[in-house]
Amino acid sequence: MSIKTNLLKLKSALPSQVTLVAVSKTKPVEDVMEAYEAGQRVFGENKVQEMVDKYQQMPKDIQWHMIGNVQRNKVKYMAEFVDLIHGVDSLKLLTEINKQAEKHQRSINCLLQLKIAQEDTKFGMTAEAAHDLLESDHFKSLKNISIVGVMGMASFTENTAQIKEEFTSLKTTFESLKKTNPSLEIVSMGMSGDYPLAITCGSTMVRVGSSIFGARNYAI
Ligand SMILES: *Cc1c(COP(=O)(O)O)cnc(C)c1O
Repeated sequence: MSIKTNLLKLKSALPSQVTLVAVSKTKPVEDVMEAYEAGQRVFGENKVQEMVDKYQQMPKDIQWHMIGNVQRNKVKYMAEFVDLIHGVDSLKLLTEINKQAEKHQRSINCLLQLKIAQEDTKFGMTAEAAHDLLESDHFKSLKNISIVGVMGMASFTENTAQIKEEFTSLKTTFESLKKTNPSLEIVSMGMSGDYPLAITCGSTMVRVGSSIFGARNYAI
C-alpha cells in the first residue's frame, strides 16, 4: 500500500483529540513529501542532524518534533525551528534548551520523558524526579521553555497486560503532575505496534512510523 493510503487509513481511525506524529526517521525526503501532500504536517525525527536536513529541504509549514534522546550539544542546531521536544529527562538538558531558545527569542515546548518500561534500555525520569523538577526554583526561572506534557515508551513485549499497565502509569503520573501544573496537556504514548491500546489508556499524541512509511532499513 502507498504511504498516502496508509496515512489516510490511520488518520480516519484516530479519535479527534489524538494528534498524529508521523515518524519519518531514516526515510527519504520523497517519502516524507508523499505524506505531506496527503495532508500530514507533524513529523517526528530522532536524530537532530537528519531533522535539520529535512527541515531545510521541505515546506516551512511542517511542525518538526524531536522524539529521540537529545544530546545537549545538539540543541543549538534545532532551536530555531523545532516545534516540540519529546525526550526531555533532566533539568540540565532543559536549561540548555532554554538558553538556545532565548538566542532565537522564542519559547520551545517540551515533554518530560518518563520511564514506564521495565527494560533498562528505555530512558526517562521517575514520577518523583519529574515532580521535583517542576517544583524547583531553577525550573521556574526558565522563561523560554514550556513543559506541555509527558512522553513514555512501553516495553517491547507481546504481553498486552504489561503494556497496558505501563501506559496507565504514565497517564496517572500525568494527572498527578497536572494538579500543580495545569498547562500540561499532552500525553505522548503509542507507536505502530501499540497505539490503539495507548489511546484507550488516555494517549493524546501517538508517534507512528512503520505503519505509515513501511519498515525501516537501518543498513542504508
Ligand atoms: C521510531 C520511534 C517511534 C515509531 O516507531 P514505529 O514502531 O515505527 O511506529 C515512536 N517513538 C519513538 C521514540 C521512536 O524512536
